[in-house]
Amino acid sequence: MISDKRVLVVGAHSADWVWRSSGAIAKYTANGAQVFVVCLTFGARGESSALWKTEGQTFENVKKIRYQEAQDAAAVLGVTNLEMWDFDDCMLEISPEILQRLNEKIREVKPSLIITHDTVDTTNRDHGIAHEIVVRASIMAAQPGIPSDGLKSTKTVPIFGFEASEPERSGFVPDVYLDITDFYSKKEEAMKCIKTQTEGPFIHGRLNTHRGWQAARMSGNKNIKYVEVFRVHDPIVVNELPVHDV
Ligand SMILES: [Zn+2]
Repeated sequence: MISDKRVLVVGAHSADWVWRSSGAIAKYTANGAQVFVVCLTFGARGESSALWKTEGQTFENVKKIRYQEAQDAAAVLGVTNLEMWDFDDCMLEISPEILQRLNEKIREVKPSLIITHDTVDTTNRDHGIAHEIVVRASIMAAQPGIPSDGLKSTKTVPIFGFEASEPERSGFVPDVYLDITDFYSKKEEAMKCIKTQTEGPFIHGRLNTHRGWQAARMSGNKNIKYVEVFRVHDPIVVNELPVHDV
């Protein structure tokens, strides 16, 4: 049941979560789930080129604009928990500081599932590093022996990896197809909030359409038009073998 889920979405930069999972997020919030979004950096260096064309541009102003865009998208999607952390993009590192902070965030949120980047994404190396940070922090969050400001350890939960912008070059093969047809207009509205990256709606709209065609063919449900796909980090334990439920 979607309504009782707590979803933690972790992106490397300010808008990764919008391009790659806002259909899923809209579906979950519309059905009563709680969604928490953490952006590890503002993406002020590597994904804000358009803003740096303005003469006299500053890091502080770029960060302010990227935060506002993400907040606008969050409002469209019904996300009330958005955090923008200020680690350095283009040089994102798996540091003890970021691992500990995310470990504590996972303990605080107690997610039912986590959505983040997959292992490889050729368009930006921070994405693969973010995946590693999430996996390691989720392991830390499950260990009772790690001091975490009094927060209790959590159980291990499934981690779903976003589709890379260039799936072929990233070796991305999806495990799960999520029908977002009824929520695609929300996704389009959210993507429009990210004015700095004008190519995003084209790139991700094309992927969502292609995956929708695949899903309709595989499931036999011709009403499916738009789909977001994910890779599963670890196998998921179920009570019975899954079937198409669309
Ligand atoms: Zn990114």
